[in-house]
Amino acid sequence: MELIVGKTAGFCFGVKNAINKTYEQINSNIKNLYCLGELVHNEKIVKDITKSGVTITDEITDVPNNSNVIIRAHGVNPKVYDIAQGKNINIIDLTCPKVAKVHEFAKEFANNNYYIFLIAEKEHPETIGTKGFCGEKSSVIEELEDIPNAIECFNKSNLEKIAIIAQTTFGVDKFKTIVEEIKSKVNCEIDIKNTICNATEYRQAETEELSKKVDLMIIIGGKHSANTRRLYDISCKNCTQSILIQNKDDNDLIQTMKNEFDKIGIMAGASTPGESIDEVVEYIKNI
Ligand code: SF4
Repeated sequence: MELIVGKTAGFCFGVKNAINKTYEQINSNIKNLYCLGELVHNEKIVKDITKSGVTITDEITDVPNNSNVIIRAHGVNPKVYDIAQGKNINIIDLTCPKVAKVHEFAKEFANNNYYIFLIAEKEHPETIGTKGFCGEKSSVIEELEDIPNAIECFNKSNLEKIAIIAQTTFGVDKFKTIVEEIKSKVNCEIDIKNTICNATEYRQAETEELSKKVDLMIIIGGKHSANTRRLYDISCKNCTQSILIQNKDDNDLIQTMKNEFDKIGIMAGASTPGESIDEVVEYIKNI
């Protein structure tokens, strides 16, 4: 049996940075430390930082005055900074620089009278943050079906130009399809910034390639992680035997490995530690 682990599997730069800096804060014995949302979609890490004294909360309004709050790699809506300032909360801003760049584009486009189409998952925390920087004159497009309504809102806005930006972890192919559809439906100036992160793009491309070559594809990552789910969807297209697992103890892995395979591929989402990947590899090798 051959086992191939994707080169791009696991932590991306933004997630690594957020985890390292959070542990730096913990080790400095800082008091009253909060994190807005789960730091990463990884149960083990979330449990560990919680045990080390970090309180996870979803709303800045629930963070007490004069405390410290971590903003994770996804970034937040600009209103969060204003509320924090009003409550004298110290912000430890771990927004990934690539997400911060999308915020900058959004602000610049909004200031230059563009109507913004944000191609993104509507409920994703990154989208909620970026939408705040886009302002009122913007629409989120997640599916092709969202385009007519977005165009109607653009027409009502009295603006003459459209800017397109994307969630950093959006599917590359889906982004292209949506952009082509928009271009075919409007007749005005369109400025397109493909803000999908390279790390996401490379990981998706490698998953596509690898899943064509193997007879079992294992995707490791949090089941609530959007970028992990996308890898799983890509994999399912090419490899009928694809599974999404959180770690080596996942029942799907245990059951699947009762069968025999010639070639197994492994990929992991951006919030999966190398340790979890190694444990799965070890488990399979021992079988
Ligand atoms: S996927 Fe890219 S944009 Fe998102 S946190 Fe990682 S490096 Fe940053």
